[in-house]
Amino acid sequence: MLLYDTARNSTVPFEPGEEVSVYVCGITPYDSTHLGHANTYLTYDLLIRRLEELDHRVKLVRNITDVDDSILGKARELGVDFLELAAAETARFHGDMAALNTRPVTAEPHAREWVTEMIDLITVLEGRGHTYTVEGATFFDVTTFDTFGAVGGYDEATMVELAAERGGRPDDPRQRNPLDFVLWQPSLPDEPAWPSPWGPGRPGWHIECSAMSMGLLGTTIDLHGGGSDLIFPHHECERAQSEAATGTTFVRHWMHCGMVAYDGTKMSKSLGNLVFVSELSKIADPRAIRLALMAHHYRQDWEWFDDDIAEAAADLETLLAAADATSGPDPAPYASRLRAALDDDLDAPRARRELLGLATAILGGGDDPTAPAVLRELSDLCGIELETPAAPVP
Ligand SMILES: [Zn+2]
Repeated sequence: MLLYDTARNSTVPFEPGEEVSVYVCGITPYDSTHLGHANTYLTYDLLIRRLEELDHRVKLVRNITDVDDSILGKARELGVDFLELAAAETARFHGDMAALNTRPVTAEPHAREWVTEMIDLITVLEGRGHTYTVEGATFFDVTTFDTFGAVGGYDEATMVELAAERGGRPDDPRQRNPLDFVLWQPSLPDEPAWPSPWGPGRPGWHIECSAMSMGLLGTTIDLHGGGSDLIFPHHECERAQSEAATGTTFVRHWMHCGMVAYDGTKMSKSLGNLVFVSELSKIADPRAIRLALMAHHYRQDWEWFDDDIAEAAADLETLLAAADATSGPDPAPYASRLRAALDDDLDAPRARRELLGLATAILGGGDDPTAPAVLRELSDLCGIELETPAAPVP
């Protein structure tokens, strides 16, 4: 299988062992699942389905970021406890993921349950001289890590700009370098706090994923993913602190998904231009949502249009009708082209065309009785289960 690796900036063979460890950064549960999340999680779901078909055992860890500036801020705004908000939104997320037929995760760590491991990791970094503490806040000193920036390959000015946009505080006067990032910080009076060697407080966002991923999958992970907006600073910082602590490769392959736009701009909570999976599921079969998302290559940024769901629903009808047919053309060439498309940097749009191509051909006739069953098998591989017709009563 060929897969694009962000850090190597090229499409390379992805050749993991029999067991494959995958860590995908999960949601911050303060708002409902939107199509941008679905696009990301369904991408890894499709990859895992193909890896499992190739006889790999996949260990998928997808965390819940329930201790973070954004969820604590939203809980304050709503006047609710952050755990209450996290529980409600996590339950909705699970409902959406189940509706979209995603494979179950091996583990779903909650950040708040891993604070001891985070403190241990920061302690190791401190012992190795990678940190400094100012007024109860402990920072990672990026000048102590030679290859900082190697995941994204951005220049320093871009990194400073992105850090400011995405939760960092490059102008924090306590930092020695604008790219240094917080590992531990004092909590505000209404925020949760844990005791630590640096005083009571809470972890920074990046250290959470390092502690949870290495705690559950080991010091070197086969594939680490998330949306492309996580390349910097989140994944860059995760790699720096993880490798600084262990002295070994943190991630063998970095895989990132493009952003979904709506109303002309990237879907984001701050802009409010979100299309929620739960809302879309009220007007359409969730299988049509999967089919609609498959029309876009995972690495591309793309825009959602309201008509997309109706088109995908019509395509789903074609698949369902063809699955109920009794025969069709020889399905083997479609099957091999579809699998080849998935193995070519997870080319879902091409795989989707082969799936629809086979369905359309089946509806056009043919005398191979295996064609509808192969269509169902290929559709299953894409996570879209076409109901098997009831067995005839003898
Ligand atoms: Zn993460």
